[in-house]
Amino acid sequence: MHPQTKAVHTGVYVDSAYNSVTTPIYPSSNFYFDALGKTRGFDYTRTGNPTRGALEENLADLEGGKHAIITSTGMSAITTTLFLLKSGDHVVAGNDIYGGTYRLFSSIFPQLGVNFSFVDMRDPQKVSDAIQPETKMIWIETPSNPLLNITDIAAIAELARKHNLITVADNTFLSPIFQQPLALGCDVVLHSTTKYINGHSDVVGGAVITGDDEIGENLKGLCNALGTGCSPFDAFLVLRGVKTLPIRMQVHQQNATTLAHWLVEHPKVDKVYFTGLDTHPQRDLITQQQTGDGGMIAFEIAADPSKLDAFFGALDLFLLAESLGGVESLIEQPWTMSHASMGEKGLAESGLTPQTIRISVGLEHPDDLVADLER
Ligand code: PLP
Repeated sequence: MHPQTKAVHTGVYVDSAYNSVTTPIYPSSNFYFDALGKTRGFDYTRTGNPTRGALEENLADLEGGKHAIITSTGMSAITTTLFLLKSGDHVVAGNDIYGGTYRLFSSIFPQLGVNFSFVDMRDPQKVSDAIQPETKMIWIETPSNPLLNITDIAAIAELARKHNLITVADNTFLSPIFQQPLALGCDVVLHSTTKYINGHSDVVGGAVITGDDEIGENLKGLCNALGTGCSPFDAFLVLRGVKTLPIRMQVHQQNATTLAHWLVEHPKVDKVYFTGLDTHPQRDLITQQQTGDGGMIAFEIAADPSKLDAFFGALDLFLLAESLGGVESLIEQPWTMSHASMGEKGLAESGLTPQTIRISVGLEHPDDLVADLER
C-alpha cells in the first residue's frame, strides 16, 4: 500500500466493543487478568497500552520496520536507543546534529562511560577514520539541523555493517514520507514526533523503529525498564496527526521551495540552505536518497545580529519560536535558541553563525509568507 493509505489505516482499528472508526484512548494505568497468567495482551501501561500499540503499528509500517516504541519526547527516544550501549562503548556522530542531542552525547552519556566522536558526516572517509575498536554505533542525522548537510545513508550503513556496528538515523526532518533509512540499510530509525509526524504543535513525543527482532525486543525492554513510553492521550494525538502526514509534507515542501527561491534572490540574504535548490552541493546524493525536500530552510542574513530583534519583531505570521514541523511557520536564531546547548566549541564546529536564521515553513499560503518576510 502507498504511504497515504498506510498513514490513514494501519493500526487504527482496535475497538472491538463499538467499532469506532478512530482508535479510542485507553487511559487505564493497568488491565485486569482474566485468570493467573492470562491477559488480553496488556497488563500495565508503562509496558504496553492499546492506544500506544496502534501508533507503534502505524509508524513501524510507514518506516518499513517491524517493531516500534513510542516515547514521551524525541529526546527520550534518543536516550532509550543509547541504552542499547554499555559503559566503554563508543559512538560516531555528526558534528552538526540537533543541539539537544549534542548535549546528551557530549555531557550526559560520557558520565556513564559511553564516548562520542563528532565528525563531518558529509565525508564517509571521516566517519571511517573515527571508528575505534570500542565503536558500537554510528549516529546519522540527515538532513542535518539546521544547515541541511547530507549524510550518504547507504554508504555509512555499509561501512557500519563491515565493522558490525548499529546504524541509527534520526529521520525527524524528512519523515518517512520523504526518506526511508531502513530501506537504505540502517538498523534503527527514530523521530521527534513533536515535529512533522504529529504536525500540529500540540504534543511532544518520540518514536524508535527497527526491522531487527533482537534490537526490537531490546528496545521494548528498555522502554519498559526506563519508563520512557508516552501517555495514551499523547499517542492518540500523534495517531490523529500522522493520518495527514503525507499530504502535509507535500505542502510544506511546495511552500519551502517558493520561499527558498525568493530568499536566494533577496539582496539582504547571503546564503540559503535548502535541499531542493540546484545549488545545494550534495544535490545528486539528495535525489538518490530523498523523495522530497521537506519544509526546513536556513539562511545567512546580511545584517548585524543586533538588528535581528527588529526583524523578528516586525513579522506577523512567522512566530519567533523553537521547534519545527507544525502547520504554522516558525522562525528562529539557532545560535541563541535551538542550538545554544551546543556551547561555544560545538557551535563553532557546526558551521552556524549568529546570522544563521532557521525557518520551519508551515502550511499557510506561500504568497502571504513571502509578503510577511518582504515587509
Ligand atoms: N531530533 C531532532 C532532529 C530535533 O530537531 C529534535 C528537537 O528539536 C529532537 C530530536 C528532540 O525532540 P524533542 O524536542 O521532541 O525531545
